Amino acid sequence: MISWQDKRRSVVQKSKSSLIEQRRQGRVLIFSQLRKSGQLARIDLSKETGLSPATVTTITAEMMEEGLIEEADRAAPTGDAKRGRPRVELKLSSSSCIVAGIKLSKGVMSSVVVDLAGNTLGSLARTFNPATVEADVLAVSVRELLKDLLAPQGLKIEDLSGVGIGVPGIVNKEEGYVYWSPMLTQRNVPLLERLADHLPVPVFIDNDANLVALAELWFGYGRTFDDFIVVTTEHGVGMGIVIDGKVYRGARGCGAELGHTKIIPDGALCRCGQRGCLEAYVADYALLREANIAMPDLPSNSLESRLDQLYRMAQEGHQEAKSIFWRAGKLLALGLANIINVFAPKLIIVAGEQMRLDYLSSDEFTQEVQRNIVYVEGPRPEIVVHRWGDLMWAKGAAAFALSECMNASL
Ligand SMILES: [Zn+2]
Repeated sequence: MISWQDKRRSVVQKSKSSLIEQRRQGRVLIFSQLRKSGQLARIDLSKETGLSPATVTTITAEMMEEGLIEEADRAAPTGDAKRGRPRVELKLSSSSCIVAGIKLSKGVMSSVVVDLAGNTLGSLARTFNPATVEADVLAVSVRELLKDLLAPQGLKIEDLSGVGIGVPGIVNKEEGYVYWSPMLTQRNVPLLERLADHLPVPVFIDNDANLVALAELWFGYGRTFDDFIVVTTEHGVGMGIVIDGKVYRGARGCGAELGHTKIIPDGALCRCGQRGCLEAYVADYALLREANIAMPDLPSNSLESRLDQLYRMAQEGHQEAKSIFWRAGKLLALGLANIINVFAPKLIIVAGEQMRLDYLSSDEFTQEVQRNIVYVEGPRPEIVVHRWGDLMWAKGAAAFALSECMNASL
């Protein structure tokens, strides 16, 4: 039988842990609000977060002492405030956490070093051309890239609070495990372990599309939204889902694999080994496969230059080239409509680096999406096309490292 003393001890314990959790939630709310808004006065932090002014005062004092936030330059008083004291605004302290983000991809590795406020301190891209590599070879390349990225800033790898790495393929973030990646020679690789063998700071890996979702949340169009979906088109087709301000990764920790949803039973062979995936009709290699059949005279240099050529021809009105892009666009529109039918998000961001996004911002593409959405009264989701440079993918990886480091500090 449980004694009353034990019962009381357990009640005290529970209320203590709920107080600790409440305080942590308060810190997370204040941190997230400052990340969204840039800088805010304590009274506005209280309004935006729903925390009491007293709680905001206590938590912000604590976070200032830890060096996580600092006073911004004083804002000029306006309206009623002119009669009162000048408003002191708070912001994230840029120097408290410096991280690097790396986007791995075939052909080029891009990297960026950022501070907690999201300021880019430096960036470096390097060609990386082997078809596939062993995990250790990849880890050494990452270390060398980081050294060269940080040297001009007078920084060493040890100065970083963490490194976030975006890996194409099917990645379990929690386990640091890569089930499959087009970059790696083997399947089922404990990539995080291999990276940790070569890097002296905390490393985090995730699927690259999830990181694009994080970058949109931290620095991009998603900054003022708690729920949205990002679809990426690059070498493959990726998807990131943000729910309640967090990236949703599902039970397997892999996140969403829009590119490998099936659109044609027993259709074209996909890089993942299955057939009929959306990616097998929309990704770069799929466009070139079509081009090889319809346009055998297309110059056969590198993959990029052939795609550039194909795109230029489509723009100049070449019928076969136009039809290749249009078919891919139609199938991607179907994929997007399916997502809208399932999630009904307020916002969908179609993100990618390249000119191929031009055919996605066309009216025909949007109409094709709308045509396949279940009709209900009410506003349709906003579809935004966001052209990114390679650097933004790396910034997504940096946002990931920042959020992981902050999870540990808040
Ligand atoms: Zn597939």
